[in-house]
Parts: sequence; structure tokens; C-alpha cells
Amino acid sequence: MPAQRTIREPARNIKVWREADVVVVGGGPGGVASAISAARNGAKTILIERYGHLGGMATGGLVNIIPNLSDISGKQHIYGLTMELISRLDKRGGTSYTKKKDRGSAEKKAVDYYLDANLGWFYVRKDHNTGVQRVLYSAVVEPEILKDELNDMVLGSGAELLLHSWGAQVIMENNAVKGVFFESKSGRQAILGKVIIDATGDGDMFVAARAEFDNDCDNKRRTAWLALVWWLTNVNLKKYDRFKATQPEKYKELMQELGKLGGYPYFFKGILKRQPNTVWYHCMQPQPRRTDAMDVEQLTKIDIQARKRALLTYDFMKKYVPGFERSFIMLTAPQLGTQGGRRIKGEYTLTEKDMETDEVFEDTIAVLANNDYGEISARHPTLCVPYRCLVPKRVDGLLVAGRAFSSADTINETFNIIPHCIAYGQAAGTAAALAVKAGIEPRKVDYKGLRKNLVKQGVNLPDIMKSKGAVQSTRANRSKAAYYQKYRSTGE
Ligand SMILES: Cc1cc2nc3c(=O)[nH]c(=O)nc-3n(C[C@H](O)[C@H](O)[C@H](O)COP(=O)(O)OP(=O)(O)OC[C@H]3O[C@@H](n4cnc5c(N)ncnc54)[C@H](O)[C@@H]3O)c2cc1C
Repeated sequence: MPAQRTIREPARNIKVWREADVVVVGGGPGGVASAISAARNGAKTILIERYGHLGGMATGGLVNIIPNLSDISGKQHIYGLTMELISRLDKRGGTSYTKKKDRGSAEKKAVDYYLDANLGWFYVRKDHNTGVQRVLYSAVVEPEILKDELNDMVLGSGAELLLHSWGAQVIMENNAVKGVFFESKSGRQAILGKVIIDATGDGDMFVAARAEFDNDCDNKRRTAWLALVWWLTNVNLKKYDRFKATQPEKYKELMQELGKLGGYPYFFKGILKRQPNTVWYHCMQPQPRRTDAMDVEQLTKIDIQARKRALLTYDFMKKYVPGFERSFIMLTAPQLGTQGGRRIKGEYTLTEKDMETDEVFEDTIAVLANNDYGEISARHPTLCVPYRCLVPKRVDGLLVAGRAFSSADTINETFNIIPHCIAYGQAAGTAAALAVKAGIEPRKVDYKGLRKNLVKQGVNLPDIMKSKGAVQSTRANRSKAAYYQKYRSTGE
């Protein structure tokens, strides 16, 4: 291989656009939650996002399912900003979610409803203690309402928002991050900050800061695949259901043929109240090799291929599958989907082992339902995540929120979904504000103060004093929080 040719870019003076306490780069679930929490905790906060809307994969990626709000028994574990968001969307008719009476239920009608929509992975789990299937508490949301609501929430928190702005480089002093350079149609500018939160999902800022990170990922994991989500509408689902029920062999044959041709035989029935006759293609299919969201040549190739495959699928369904005759592609996601990649090496790295120890860390910032590990989940229905997973080793002035949290790839794929990233963001934003207020580095933030603050915000945290091993009820903590009273849960 010939040596890579390089060229030197001339140095130049860059305009400082703003100075802030907390600068959040990336406006996905992790970044939005970071910005809102930092600002609500009194920090002068700026959020920059490369696209023209907030929400990251949850909006631009058309990934509009928010699952695992409860464990398999129906016990809710996710509260805090996720519940605030769902409550707000509910008021605008922008969400549908599992009815309260169905959460944890093994009733056939409820289970079949989600299985029939192909939403099994998001809504249904096998109870390994009894062998029956049960319904989880999960929600689906309308991306367009979500975008608007997130704008309102960020601006309402007092944070400043700059869209169409791509975080390009960090400003370093020794081992501390002191701001970011960003690119936009207004040219290259700088924002100085006391704490920078990398919420790009891909770790763009921590790579620039030369923090240690992991990028290994087993090809079998969903986090190793890129996918373009798209929606097909005007489908006559009743006709389709009849065909599938009366000619199951024919349907199977057709889907096998579609798969062989390179199309996508698998879709979800959209269950949003205001979106009848629509199906969602998430296109999550194992790839022969790991696809890398950091390689722009691969991104280009996959985007082109994914469009061809979407069109092939559409043509096939329209031609051969009853119910699809008058369908049309409503939307392809503006953003190619990536679920995993670089992960920061933090002060603590979460591994599969942590599921089995039931450890309630002294810096626990999130309690998550552990639904995806079969019998392990049956024995250990929750997992605690420590704040140290958001704190990079060695590099100061920096926190990481979202899917790039410090974790082994074996666990990242399960604990990096939307409600989890919101929880990490809520903790990172709060910690950043506390660090600024105290004039200390984020890694020095007092865990007790951080946890107390999060509980006041309605986050469900275990009472460390009371817990012996397994996570104990936090009813006493929660009942003190006025915030929790307001955004308790949907459908109650
Ligand atoms: C096909 C697919 C299906 C999925 N299904 C589900 C599901 O049903 N439910 C679920 O909960 N999760 C699902 N996920 C996972 C989930 O969407 C992500 O893990 C989650 O959105 C991660 O949140 P995040 O904030 O860390 O990152 P992201 O959602 O990726 O947000 C990162 C944000 O940062 C911005 N950004 C990136 N780089 C820069 C930069 N340099 N400067 C400025 N801005 C930048 C991006 O534009 C984006 O807005 C799915 C993912 C995919 C790809």
C-alpha cells in the first residue's frame, strides 16, 4: 500500500461564538436530556446538533419505539425525563403505550396484539419462571411531534440551541477539554465551556480529545449493523391479514423469495393511533461483515444499497402481496441508522457480570429493567448503572452521554436504547451543572449530592442505605419528589 498522502491545513484565528458553563454536542436522546438537565440545574448551557432537528435516531432515524420501561412483571423502572417526555407527547396525542392493566399481563389477547404487529421484541418477553409470555410497558411516539416537543423542552429549560452545527474538534488545555470548534453555514466557530458533554453517540468529541475508547463489536450483535428505516403506508392490513391467515404457506414462500432477491421480508405494523395502515421496516438484518458508521465510504455505499433494497421490497410487496396493491413509500429516514460503535473507556466499565451481582453502586444514576437475557433476567430483573460509566479516564472537562457510555459490547447492545440514553443524559447534565457550581472536575462530583438531585427530578434510584444486594423499592424517595408526582406514568 502506498503511504497515505497528506496536506497541511493552515492555522487561522477562529471567532468565539459563545462562552458557556456546559456545552452539549449532539441532540439525540442523550444530548437533549443532558442539555435540559444542565440548564434546569442553573448552568448556562448550549446544545449544538448537526441536523435541523433534535431527537437523533428517535426522530431522524425513524426509531420511534421506546421499550423496556418496565421489567417483565410489569414493574416500571424508568421514570425521570423519559416519563416527562411521554406524558407531554400523550397530551398532544403523539404517543401510544401499553395500557396499565396489560403491563406484566400474560393475557392472550394483549400478548397476541403485539405479536401480531411483530412488535414482540419491544413489547413481549417470555417469563422464565412460569414459561408464559408477558407484556412489557413500552411506548411508540410520533417523530414529528417529538421533534417539536424536544425543541420546546430544550428552549423551555433555558438552554440555548444551535441546529445545523457540526461539532468538529475539541479545544484542549493539557488533558482538559475547554470547548469545541464547530462547522456550519456560518463557517468554523468556537464555543468555550467548563464542561463538554459528548452526546454524538459516535464519540466524536472524546476521540478528538484523545480519550481511551473501545470500538470492538461482535458481528452478530445488532450494534454492528447499519440500517435505513423506512415506512410504507396505505396498506390494507385487513386484506393482508386475511391472506396471511388463509394462505400461510404461500405467504412464507413469497417472503423467502423476497429475501433471496435481497429485499426485506420483515416489518412491524405501525400501532400509532393516528397512523393507520402503515408499516415500519427497521431493516435490521445480520450483515456478512461488521459495518462501520465511522467510515464515510461505507456510509455512502450502505445508504445507496439500502435504498435499492427498499425499492425492491416495495415493488415486490405491491405486485405479489394482497393488501399492498395501493401502498406507497411514505418516508425513508433522513438519517442512516447506527446503533453502536465507539464506547468510552470510563472510570467504570459495565459488563455482563454486573447483571449477576445485583450491585447497587454508591454512584448509581439509573436503574434499568433487564429483560433481554433470558434466565439471567428472570433472576436479576434490574441493572444499576454507575455515574463512572459516563466519566472518561484521564481526560477532564468531559462527560459522555448516550449509547457510547463505558460498557462492553456484550451489554451495550441491550442497554443503549432510547430510555437508557435519556437516563444517562439526565445524569450527565445534572453532574455537569453540579461540577460547574462547585468549581470542580466532573469526576469529583459528590455522588450523594448527584443522586439526591436526580431523585428530586423524579429519577427512580435505589435507596443505598436500605438496599442489601438487590434493588429495593424507592417509594419513600419518590413520594418526596413533587416532580415525580407530576410525571408519574402514563395511563394511570
Ligand atoms: C435501525 C435501528 C433501530 C433501533 N430501534 C430502537 C428502538 O426501537 N427503540 C430504542 O429505544 N432504540 C432503538 N435503537 C437504538 C437507539 O435509537 C439509539 O441507541 C439511541 O437513539 C442512542 O441515543 P444517543 O443520543 O446516544 O445517539 P443518537 O440517537 O445517535 O443521537 C446522536 C445525535 O448527535 C448528533 N451528532 C452526531 N455527531 C455530531 C457532531 N459531530 N456534531 C453535532 N451533532 C452530532 C446526531 O445528528 C444525533 O442527533 C435503534 C437503532 C437503530 C439504528
